[in-house]
Amino acid sequence: MALDSKIPEGSISDKWTNYKDHINLVNPANKRNLDIIVVGTGLAGGSAAATLAELGYNVKSFCFQDSPRRAHSIAAQGGINAAKNYQGDGDSTFRLFYDTVKGGDYRSREANVHRLAEVSTNIIDQCVAQGVPFAREYGGLLDNRSFGGTLVSRTFYAKGQTGQQLLLGAYSAMNRQIGRGKIKMHNRHEMLDLVIVDGKARGIIARDLVSGKIERHSAHAVVIASGGYGNVFFLSTNAMGSNVTAAWKIHKRGAFFANPCYTQIHPTCIPVSGEHQAKLTLMSESLRNDGRIWVPAKIEDAKAIREGKLKPTQIAEADRDYYLERRYPAFGNLVPRDIASRAAKERCDAGFGVNKTGEAVYLDFAAAIQRYGVDQARLKHQDENDLALVTKLGTEVVANKYGNLFQMYEKIVDENPYSTPMMIYPAVHYTMGGTWVDYNLQTTIPGCFSIGESNFSDHGANRLGASALMQGLADGYFVLPYTIGDYLAPDIKMGTISTDSPEFEAAEKNVLAQIDQLINANGTKPADYFHKKLGKIMWDKVGMARNATGLAEAQAEIAQIREEFYKDVKIPGTADSFNPELTKALRIADFLELGELFAKDALNRNESCGGHFREEYQTPEGEAQRDDENYAYVAAWEYKGSPSDAVLHKEALVFDNVKLVQRSYK
Ligand SMILES: Cc1cc2nc3c(=O)[nH]c(=O)nc-3n(C[C@H](O)[C@H](O)[C@H](O)COP(=O)(O)OP(=O)(O)OC[C@H]3O[C@@H](n4cnc5c(N)ncnc54)[C@H](O)[C@@H]3O)c2cc1C
Repeated sequence: MALDSKIPEGSISDKWTNYKDHINLVNPANKRNLDIIVVGTGLAGGSAAATLAELGYNVKSFCFQDSPRRAHSIAAQGGINAAKNYQGDGDSTFRLFYDTVKGGDYRSREANVHRLAEVSTNIIDQCVAQGVPFAREYGGLLDNRSFGGTLVSRTFYAKGQTGQQLLLGAYSAMNRQIGRGKIKMHNRHEMLDLVIVDGKARGIIARDLVSGKIERHSAHAVVIASGGYGNVFFLSTNAMGSNVTAAWKIHKRGAFFANPCYTQIHPTCIPVSGEHQAKLTLMSESLRNDGRIWVPAKIEDAKAIREGKLKPTQIAEADRDYYLERRYPAFGNLVPRDIASRAAKERCDAGFGVNKTGEAVYLDFAAAIQRYGVDQARLKHQDENDLALVTKLGTEVVANKYGNLFQMYEKIVDENPYSTPMMIYPAVHYTMGGTWVDYNLQTTIPGCFSIGESNFSDHGANRLGASALMQGLADGYFVLPYTIGDYLAPDIKMGTISTDSPEFEAAEKNVLAQIDQLINANGTKPADYFHKKLGKIMWDKVGMARNATGLAEAQAEIAQIREEFYKDVKIPGTADSFNPELTKALRIADFLELGELFAKDALNRNESCGGHFREEYQTPEGEAQRDDENYAYVAAWEYKGSPSDAVLHKEALVFDNVKLVQRSYK
């Protein structure tokens, strides 16, 4: 099957406008005759469900949490980008587009990224109208801060709780529609299969997680907004429940899976502390606005710190290595995440790590506290040479900006980050890969759409900070509501779709068979045992640095664990009841397939780009070495019975509007 990305004709800045001017529309009366299933209630699914219902469609919304408001999006901390240029610092639609393409190491589709930059400004207006309390400056105007990979301040934020505030906005818009009966909400339901009738997505099979009942739901179109799959690594900053199941099930039904190996390892997370952990905690990238990253310049100091004989505050300025500022003077601590993560790993691998495991670097606010303190003292006509006063005033400013993040750090690490530098290390955070979609956000299955983090997204091989929220809300509020109408226009006279067809019957049987197999395995090990094993292989061989030997081994080892899993997993309880172990096992089964495809994809891509770092392909300075001649394509995998048999399709990437050069942040 040839991939058709359906990019509209015209110049890059006219494509979206021309497209909207010429698509099929569904008249308001006919929208009432059309049902749409939306799986997911995060920022992507929540905004889509609310908007589609507002337009008049009948929406059936699904999430596995007990409320749409608990979707993983609520955890987003730092902010959301938009090309408003409120700071007058040179931002524009083109610059946001350019930064995103460059940040993704030239592995994204230009037309989609430009559309994203265009609608970014609408998102802020929409959310302000909903009452989202974005941070404001003294004069009342919306404030901005900087995120990695840009030289402008375009990030809108609500303290360190931006996702929470945005999700409350989307949720209140959803709730209005739930109240009107236009959204039928199915909390605590897990989609376990897609139903295709006459070649088109017409419904899903879902499990009621409380009763265990298997249900059939039909619709004229199905939208997957199920988030990312970072938890394939077991340890990640994602919510514990985040999983790949919905995206993987549609993959098995014919949706191509694109660039599975593109994973973002975030540089500023609380380091792993031991085997007992099931979750890692992010320290928002916004902290890199003011925090300076360093390790001791002398190896003996690093050793003394690890042994508890020296404190970071005792190390003189001249004996510190602010390695990002040293290596990347133009962007400094605000280089993109892939670069900051690799640089931290490089220092730690060289023996300069600062915690007991040797896998941590410092994020230090001392300079910012002094800088803000002096500023405040001057504004208040107080003594700028009074160190205690300046420290107090500076601490207040930092607390105002990042207070909740500092509090979170102190609770977890039991150290006061205002007086001693934070310790951070890279951790799995976001997945740029996902279901392949065309310009309409439609997968290779007609009528099955994918939005937000679950699609292969606009971020290429590395997402810039604060761009995931932008993409999820762009897809849900401003893109899908147009493109899905164009698809649905011919279906207006179809009437309700029956769930009694052989296709629903077969899909339901398929789900029941897998549940039976797992429940009856009667093995000896809990599902988590296999997940941890998978995660370790993923981190060691498919993680921050990958090579051909490790990737080939990983594929074989993951296939082996999958086999063991089906033979030896132990799931207590029954299938027809509340059974969290069964829920977990069903998700892990899919991670065990995805992991293998992930490694296969990484092995296929004989280049380094963004977050995909193949040790064999690097510049003499240790930067990612792309191979544009052979790999400037999206790798879209077609399922053929098992991950090892997946067939590769290539979507060639064309760059007409940015120059394809080796990325530099120096
Ligand atoms: C700690 C943290 C901080 C972050 N901070 C930022 C930030 O500051 N700025 C930024 O831009 N990005 C940030 N991100 C990334 C961003 O939060 C996510 O990419 C984004 O929220 C994903 O939104 P989504 O709607 O696609 O998916 P999610 O919010 O993950 O929602 C997924 C939804 O799908 C449902 N679901 C999944 N599978 C099924 C199934 N099988 N059946 C039924 N329902 C299902 C879930 O119940 C949920 O409702 C952060 C990420 C993390 C981990």
